[in-house]
Amino acid sequence: MAVIIDEEKCIGCGICETTCPFGAISLKNSKAVIGLACTQCGACVDVCPVGAISRVEVAQEVTMDKTQYKNVWVYIETVEGKIKNVSLELLGEGRKLADKMGQHLAGVLLGKNVESLSKDIFAAGADEVYLVEADELAHYNTDGYTTVVANLIQEYKPSVVLVGATNDGRDLGPRIASRIATGLTADCTGLAIDDETGLVAWTRPAFGGNIMATILCPEHRPQMGTVRPSVFKKPLLDYDRCGKIIRVKSTVKPEDIRTKLTDVVKVCTTCCNLEEAEIIVSGGRGLGKPENFKLVEDLAEVLGATVGASRAAVDAGWKPHMCQVGQTGKTVGPKIYIACGISGAVQHLVGMSSSDIIIAINRDKDAPIFQVANYGIVGDVLEVLPIMTEEFKKRKAC
Ligand SMILES: Cc1cc2nc3c(=O)[nH]c(=O)nc-3n(C[C@H](O)[C@H](O)[C@H](O)COP(=O)(O)OP(=O)(O)OC[C@H]3O[C@@H](n4cnc5c(N)ncnc54)[C@H](O)[C@@H]3O)c2cc1C
Repeated sequence: MAVIIDEEKCIGCGICETTCPFGAISLKNSKAVIGLACTQCGACVDVCPVGAISRVEVAQEVTMDKTQYKNVWVYIETVEGKIKNVSLELLGEGRKLADKMGQHLAGVLLGKNVESLSKDIFAAGADEVYLVEADELAHYNTDGYTTVVANLIQEYKPSVVLVGATNDGRDLGPRIASRIATGLTADCTGLAIDDETGLVAWTRPAFGGNIMATILCPEHRPQMGTVRPSVFKKPLLDYDRCGKIIRVKSTVKPEDIRTKLTDVVKVCTTCCNLEEAEIIVSGGRGLGKPENFKLVEDLAEVLGATVGASRAAVDAGWKPHMCQVGQTGKTVGPKIYIACGISGAVQHLVGMSSSDIIIAINRDKDAPIFQVANYGIVGDVLEVLPIMTEEFKKRKAC
């Protein structure tokens, strides 16, 4: 569909401009002009008093032969010589999609001296690894990685490409999609196969998290998406599995890379690596004031845990947004999640309810967090936290 304006009929009244929910219409020389932000919603068509605006069917020329595209790919992200959890999680989920589609699962591994990681990729469910090793790929860089993965896709034609919604994945995924002219659903929290079409059904929060949208990519290939870390569990690794390594030569030259890595500086706060953490101690509004987060940090230190926060604590400026757990923060899946003074609103729960063990401290015995908690402590968090910290210190000293 497209929205068009009949300039002859347009009287420049501006009603469409004020009606457009996306700010996509402006008046130029007293005539309405549709901008790039138009979503073809048609709100302007209904309000135009002179019938100058209409929605028309646009014949879309789709030349892509979709039958050539087969197999599910997972982009393998590495950090300090190890595969990131999210890539393993996606291999587990990719395996399920590939089985349903009757296709292969492959990992796409880029880097320098990374071949040994292939065994982990096979153990997580892949049938093949596309391996590209080069000096220029030793560290993630947008230009080099985009070129290599886009070229691989054009040559081998996968049907589905999954990328972790990490900082690097959010940089890489859309660039590849744009380069090869396909769609990408960003920041997904659910994956399935649509029964009717056989396409991947990508689910993600939309409109600020108020609804969950399910998106299909019917016209273009591959179907691409970035998926949030910790949404899916890591598969059990089976080191008896093996597969085929497909070595591909890198076509990237040093001069293709416009950025130069001069240094790697670790900026790590207590919130670092929430998505990879095995234990998380999170604080909420029930802590009362920012200074009381020290109690959360003390317990986290003794447990070797990472610190998280509810949105209320983040909105109050007690912790940076990078610490926020929940629908509009990070999705986490630690072995132990300790919620301190957090009520358990649904938007918080969606970010942490897949934790193996949940311990909640709240003075309200009816707080919703207790419905998902394995262990609940009804009490004042300011009193309970120091007792827990002391007790763990004593036990660790034994
Ligand atoms: C679109 C949208 C997206 C959102 N995204 C997120 C998100 O990503 N993450 C998120 O966390 N929230 C999110 N929210 C907000 C969410 O709805 C809640 O408002 C928020 O989680 C509440 O944070 P809280 O539990 O810290 O505070 P509150 O709901 O105020 O709860 C504080 C709790 O502390 C307890 N308490 C108070 N004093 C003490 C004490 N001394 N000792 C023990 N317990 C005590 C109270 O009983 C209460 O249960 C979102 C909301 C919307 C609309």
